[in-house]
Amino acid sequence: MGGEGPTMERLIRDLLKEMGEDPAREGLEKTPTRVAKAWEYLTSGYRQNVHDVLNEALLTEEYDEMVVVKDIDFYSICEHHLLPFFGKCHIAYMPSRKIVGLTKLPRLVEMFARRLQVHERFTTQVSHTLEAVLQPRGVTVVVEALYMCMLMRGVEKQNSKAVTSAMLGAFRENAETRAEFMELIRARGGLLI
Ligand code: ZN
Repeated sequence: MGGEGPTMERLIRDLLKEMGEDPAREGLEKTPTRVAKAWEYLTSGYRQNVHDVLNEALLTEEYDEMVVVKDIDFYSICEHHLLPFFGKCHIAYMPSRKIVGLTKLPRLVEMFARRLQVHERFTTQVSHTLEAVLQPRGVTVVVEALYMCMLMRGVEKQNSKAVTSAMLGAFRENAETRAEFMELIRARGGLLI
């Protein structure tokens, strides 16, 4: 976007030099351009907002049952190491009057994932956005992720998987509602849990 390409390319060229590489050698010649493009895509969530992603898909409906969308794949970048973390996000909410088109939930997840993130903030951003926009009786978001920064750096391998959850409203107050949701997301051949 607007002029950041060349700056980013220059920075990547400098980064390659700092690594002890020769940015002019054949294999690396186009790398700064490719990396700049990749980062533009991986951080495209900064140039989107909730309004663009959700608002046109909001419906008013008398619907009482729990709405569940599970196994939403996401890929994000940890803000501590600029390395990927990825996994699955599970969302449920108890509508009050507003519901949102189901295909929009993965897009919301994607919008927040395509920014530099930490697991906990990512989980909170998704849940708080849904709470604010839908004003549901309850919302819960569970995020399971695998951290490349842990795996690749060879540290804390046993802790490279992380699960966080946010429970709001009915999910926080009602153990039965919470259990129903956990049951639903476990009823699968889970990748990570
Ligand atoms: Zn990290």
